[in-house]
Amino acid sequence: MKRLALAGTTALFLTFLIAPAAMAEDKPKPPKSVRLYVFDCGSLTMSAPATFGFTKEEIGEKQPFAVPCYLVVHPKGTLMWDVGVIPDSQVNGTTQGISTVTKTLKSQLAEVGYSAGDIKYLALSHLHSDHTANANDFAGSTWLVHQNERDAMFAPAPAGGRGGRGGPMASASYIKLKDSKTTILTDKDYDVFGDGTVVIQYAPGHTPGHQILFLRLKQSGPILIAGDLYHLPQEINMHRFPTFEFDKEQSAASRAKVEAFVQQTGARLWIEHDLATFTMLKKAPAFYE
Ligand SMILES: [Zn+2]
Repeated sequence: MKRLALAGTTALFLTFLIAPAAMAEDKPKPPKSVRLYVFDCGSLTMSAPATFGFTKEEIGEKQPFAVPCYLVVHPKGTLMWDVGVIPDSQVNGTTQGISTVTKTLKSQLAEVGYSAGDIKYLALSHLHSDHTANANDFAGSTWLVHQNERDAMFAPAPAGGRGGRGGPMASASYIKLKDSKTTILTDKDYDVFGDGTVVIQYAPGHTPGHQILFLRLKQSGPILIAGDLYHLPQEINMHRFPTFEFDKEQSAASRAKVEAFVQQTGARLWIEHDLATFTMLKKAPAFYE
């Protein structure tokens, strides 16, 4: 017994000796230029074309949606953008309702050398539950949000039946953000690291303070991660809108502005839920830079 206990103590002592050095090596060094990692945070099976303004003849009966999460690593810090549909603690490769998640966000972050506690900034495209599942894990980050979105997230009940479609599951998933260090954004572009490479744009309509992310990468060029400004690429040319927009006129105005911006900058437009886009993207641990 005594020998065993001694062995245990020695092992513990060695762990203390080794751990700090190993940990220091594990932390990735800031890159020289901006990197973007795309994580697989699951999928959704929608089966209501009318909800997105289409007939089943136009887009089929079922619409498989991707659910990506994104990590931006800038020389000056990190930004997590959208955090999944099922909390990591409940991920076991099975399906919850229309959602399926096979890999935790935590494990995918770890694979590229990060944990939620390392992340400097958190931004959600919007409050819906398929974008907020792991938000509580990032409560130690600085939260970048518009006032009207934040208000909708913590409103006791959706005002006038509009907006705040987060539901109880969504609010549980982000409740800890209430006490996070928070930066309230305005309707002007928000340049996260001050050099124009990572910019949050206000694109309201889908929800009160819906936002999108513009990246200017050295090799990959300009990319616009469009949140749920659209769900399907057909919405662009066929001018269709989901039935559950917070304000459809606002969405139309946001889309017009974004489409002009894409024309002008030549940015690639990534519709987050578009499975065709998601399928062809490089996934972490590979990255765009
Ligand atoms: Zn969504």
